[in-house]
Formats: sequence, C-alpha cells, structure tokens
Amino acid sequence: MSWLSPLLTIAASLFLCLTSIKCESALSEANGASYSTSTSLTLFLTFASLFFFVLAKLSGPGFLPRGWRPADLRERAALERCPWCDGYKAPRAHHCTR
Ligand SMILES: [Zn+2]
Repeated sequence: MSWLSPLLTIAASLFLCLTSIKCESALSEANGASYSTSTSLTLFLTFASLFFFVLAKLSGPGFLPRGWRPADLRERAALERCPWCDGYKAPRAHHCTR
C-alpha cells in the first residue's frame, strides 16, 4: 500500500483547515468577535472527514466467496456473471481481469 497519496491528502486537508481558521480569526478580530461557530464547524468537518478517510483507507473492500449467488432471483438477472470464475459479480466490482 502506498502511503504517499493518503499522507498528501491528510496534509492538504489540515493545511486547508488551518488556513481557513487563520482567515476566520483575522476576520473575527477585525469585527471584534472572539470565537465563531464556523471555526468549530470547520474543525469538526475536517477531523470527521479525516477520521472516515483513515477508516476507509485501513479497511479492505471485502470479497465475495467463490460460488456466491444472490438469494433473490430478480437480483441474479440484474448482476453480471464472470466468465473466468463462473460466479456473479457484485455491483461495481472487478475481478478476474487482466
Ligand atoms: Zn471472476
């Protein structure tokens, strides 16, 4: 797993968050306000998105066991079959491709 891209994403998110907070604090000082709800909202959204980004990065996409088939017959008609492993493909899944 390459960690350069996720680390750059996290660094860019933190840079944007800190830049936004710095600009907000400069505007708040100019207006005489001390603390803004947009600062706390910026912090919350940044750290929530980083938390879920790391969770998504650390968890695998999962797999379907060999020979899996949907229980509902209507779903079988909607899914594609893989000609290589003779199994159903999950929606938006790629496998047995070269
Ligand atoms: Zn396959």
